[in-house]
Amino acid sequence: MHSSHQQSQPFQRNGAHQTSFPAKKPSPPQQNQPDFDHQDARRGFSPQDQAVPQSPSGSSVPQRRPEPACPVFRKCGGCQLQNMDYARQLQFKQRRVEGLLKQFHSVEPIIGMETPYHYRNKVSAAFALARNQQIISGVYQDSTHRIVPVDHCLIEDPKADEIICSIRRLMKSFKLLPYDEVTQKGFLRHVLIKRGFATNQIMVVLVTATPVFPAKKRFTEALLKLHPEITTILMNLNDRYTSMVLGEQEKVLYGPGKIQDILCGCRFQISAKSFYQINPAQTEALYLKAMEYAGLTGSETVIDAYCGIGTIGLVAAKRGAKKVVGVELNRDAVKDAIENAKLNKLSNAWFCAGDAGEFMLEMSLEKEPADVVFMDPPRAGSDRTFLSSLIALSPQKVVYISCNPETQQRDLRYLTSKGPYRVTRIQPVDMFPHTNHVETVALLEKAVPLKIHL
Ligand code: SAH
Repeated sequence: MHSSHQQSQPFQRNGAHQTSFPAKKPSPPQQNQPDFDHQDARRGFSPQDQAVPQSPSGSSVPQRRPEPACPVFRKCGGCQLQNMDYARQLQFKQRRVEGLLKQFHSVEPIIGMETPYHYRNKVSAAFALARNQQIISGVYQDSTHRIVPVDHCLIEDPKADEIICSIRRLMKSFKLLPYDEVTQKGFLRHVLIKRGFATNQIMVVLVTATPVFPAKKRFTEALLKLHPEITTILMNLNDRYTSMVLGEQEKVLYGPGKIQDILCGCRFQISAKSFYQINPAQTEALYLKAMEYAGLTGSETVIDAYCGIGTIGLVAAKRGAKKVVGVELNRDAVKDAIENAKLNKLSNAWFCAGDAGEFMLEMSLEKEPADVVFMDPPRAGSDRTFLSSLIALSPQKVVYISCNPETQQRDLRYLTSKGPYRVTRIQPVDMFPHTNHVETVALLEKAVPLKIHL
């Protein structure tokens, strides 16, 4: 679309919001990450880790490597598996999860997507000025702060991509400059777009380096004229030297400042800074599997640890939990979770802000009863305080949802070796087609002590 002023051909945008900085200045310590996204970290296993398939005779079979649909997939680095057809990607992820978790229990066949494209409901673009003085927007090239221009991406919401292109054009007519990290001058750093696929509500966040937004009213009106489908526009001030997309302060320029989406029959309010799963179709599959594993009957007290905006806990509150308590570090997400309980008229759910480990420790010291614990930690997995308190609390079932099977393996090992648990189900779900990431849900149940009859 903007080929006339691109440095190079458009690349594929992915969700990588955390990148390393130019070596000149040290990167500040990473605070709690309000914009945390399961897919943000580009680490993970590589397709090169995959064993070459063997023919029945034992000789190597050449792998089928289709041309990646995105011409620059290697430069972008977001879709590491795009040179494998989708069936093969699923096979690769299945083997990967089996390699790590089969030691605990057999692994059910991975749940894949029917149409594994344009699934991302959250899109973020960095803005910069190219050498030819044209404004470009796109993703940072892997491990750099060089921007790879992107107009269309195979995994992102096309509407979001369209809006980002419009913003770039409007900037030119409004004479707004993108922020320059080296000179630390300029205005617009990023644009973040979130869309509720079920409600069609769209949030646009303009992340700026300065609090002064010249002609903000006219700019907002012009954007809404081009895209009347946008339901809210925010300005977020990020004036720090940081690799995080969003800053602390935000201001609503249009609409309610939030959007809503629907998952598993529940309505959820989502704010700019809170975490929300980026692939709603697969999230429903994941949550329904988690509910099946929990087997709620109407009498259970449930904990939703690392609850985000309360999605898992509220689905459980609607589907058979007697009482739900959620805990989450991000205060904006907790506010959303409390609102979401009201929105769904669920009076059996409570949410608190805090560290999940500290919360579990308190629960175990107070000897608070819990029957089922859902836990869904970030990529780093859980910590000792949480896991040892979980064992002390000793719920009948633990449903462990993970976006990193490596840390899940470590935590399952701890729970099964130090606690009374055994793993009884494991289900991989492909939340992030074409990337090397995979989500898994595992059920742990208290092992019944053997009765020895003499
Ligand atoms: N269960 C939610 C969110 C999962 S993402 C969902 O399905 O949408 C992991 C969440 O853990 C994020 O919202 C993150 O803010 C939160 N988090 C990270 N570290 C935490 C900690 N130490 N204690 C509590 N929550 C934490």
